[in-house]
Amino acid sequence: MAAIDELVAELAKLPGIGQKTAQRLTFHLLHQPKERLTRLAAALRLVAERVRSCSECGNYCEDEHCSICLDPRRDPSLLCVVEEASAVGQVERATGYRGRYLVLGGRLSPLEGVGPDQLRIGLLKERLAQGEVREVILATNPSLEGEATATFIQQLLAGTGVRVSRLARGLPVGGDLEYIDGITLSHALEARQEVS
Ligand SMILES: [Zn+2]
Repeated sequence: MAAIDELVAELAKLPGIGQKTAQRLTFHLLHQPKERLTRLAAALRLVAERVRSCSECGNYCEDEHCSICLDPRRDPSLLCVVEEASAVGQVERATGYRGRYLVLGGRLSPLEGVGPDQLRIGLLKERLAQGEVREVILATNPSLEGEATATFIQQLLAGTGVRVSRLARGLPVGGDLEYIDGITLSHALEARQEVS
């Protein structure tokens, strides 16, 4: 039973998966042919060994830089700041955005002990110091913490001459960009409003 308990415990740590679902998933997996389990384990190992953060934007990649940062056709004057790498995929799929990104790696949350030092604020400053960025689009999640994070960055950029815009209002409050439909997100990006 030790092996089963271990898997249940690991699965239960995943977001949205409680003890019961973890048990259900574990028994589902045990019913599968052994090769499937081995493939799943191999996929997990590969991700653990290969995937890293892009040194320029924080997006997930397998090399020093992600494909977006390496793409010479992307506009380096536009920088879209998002909380998580999953939001990059969402903006890419849903909109025609052709600029670059900065993945913060979270949101400011004093209650959870997340301050500016736990986010990629330093990387953001480095990007701005390179002098190519003309507009920063704050695309944090429409939640309290996301708003606080956007306001913090907005204040950081005040007086730098860089245009700062935020996704248009109308996104469901408390939501997560990941779960917002593509059309709404695309409109919010197009109708972004300058905030400073
Ligand atoms: Zn990158």
